[in-house]
Amino acid sequence: MNAYLDYQSSKPVDPRVIEAMLPYFHDKPGNPSSLHAVGDDATAVLEEAHETIAGFINAEKDEIIFTSGATESNNLGIIGFAMRNRNKGNHIIISEIEHISIHNIAKHLEKNGFFVSKVPVDQYGRVNIKKIAGRITEKTILISIGYANNEIGTIQPVAEIGKLCREKGIAFHTDAVAAEGLIPLDVKRDNIDLMTLSSNDIYGPKGVGVLYLRKGIRISPVIIGGGQEKGLRSGSENMPGIVGMKKAVEIMQGGMEEEVKRFKEFRDILTGNISKDIPKAYLNGHPKERLPNNVHFRFEGIEGESLLLSLKDKGVSISTGSACSSKTLEPSHTLIALGLLHEEAHGSLEVTIGRFTDEEEIHSIINALPEVVGRLRNLSPLYE
Ligand code: PMP
Repeated sequence: MNAYLDYQSSKPVDPRVIEAMLPYFHDKPGNPSSLHAVGDDATAVLEEAHETIAGFINAEKDEIIFTSGATESNNLGIIGFAMRNRNKGNHIIISEIEHISIHNIAKHLEKNGFFVSKVPVDQYGRVNIKKIAGRITEKTILISIGYANNEIGTIQPVAEIGKLCREKGIAFHTDAVAAEGLIPLDVKRDNIDLMTLSSNDIYGPKGVGVLYLRKGIRISPVIIGGGQEKGLRSGSENMPGIVGMKKAVEIMQGGMEEEVKRFKEFRDILTGNISKDIPKAYLNGHPKERLPNNVHFRFEGIEGESLLLSLKDKGVSISTGSACSSKTLEPSHTLIALGLLHEEAHGSLEVTIGRFTDEEEIHSIINALPEVVGRLRNLSPLYE
């Protein structure tokens, strides 16, 4: 049987989302910029989509900017903010375990006159608020810390970071992609100024995302053109994609609690079985402050790639780290930031559960893992 347990890398689009999108490919071709009736319909739908996404995160509808996905939202939020506010300061703070897109944006800004501090995390992947506060200078304009980590699932103290930023008059951006659909998001409660969301992470189509931009926060566009999305994200709106993201949010609003409960049950069964059946298997990430759908283990004496390939032969799809950089041989920067040795980071495996995961899939990995780990350890010169 095939078991797909890599929801962090890519999620299937919910069939109800596909159904909602279909008319917008042919029957409803309107462009919101057109002044005729078909264009008016598109304008109304676009407006509703702004409202729906805003409702999902406790924002206002004109604080929502549609983009082509989380990478673009991170670019627009961070580069757009930095460029627009550089007269106020040129220092930005991120953490060592941000998504690769944030690290590369930081490198880009460093080449353009900015200074970026990377705060370390503890052994569980959590940032320490005092360490963040210690890096703030009078030049600091923006702090960007992911809501939860996409690899190890550790949830950050977002409300505390938001409070600190608001007190200091520093803007707070959070990439909430890993958390959306798993944790109730509230930009007001958490004092968030800019937030990145993606459609696929809530079972919508890829190629659509959102940047939440709090009223009063000024950014420069990074894509310049016809002035769509209040001039902050030009280009004809991706109407099927936007409708898909709207539908994905509506579905989530109707059943997130139920879904999360099921994920936790699966996660705890899986974690319990791995700990019971496999010696020298250690949980990566925070034992409590972690995403309900994430199971991340390292197995002493084993290469994650061999593990992944052996499980692939058994029809089980899992990940060894971040899908965004898994084709490189470099160990995950997140696992290294936890203080793991290269061989420990390489010996790690990530299982992520999602909406369509069933018990059979959970059992197929529980059944396959002890045998595969045992066989690889017998072959490993690293395992005693
Ligand atoms: N941020 C996080 C936390 C992610 O996990 C990802 C990848 N899913 C991205 C940003 C980039 O998303 P996309 O490739 O859809 O732009």
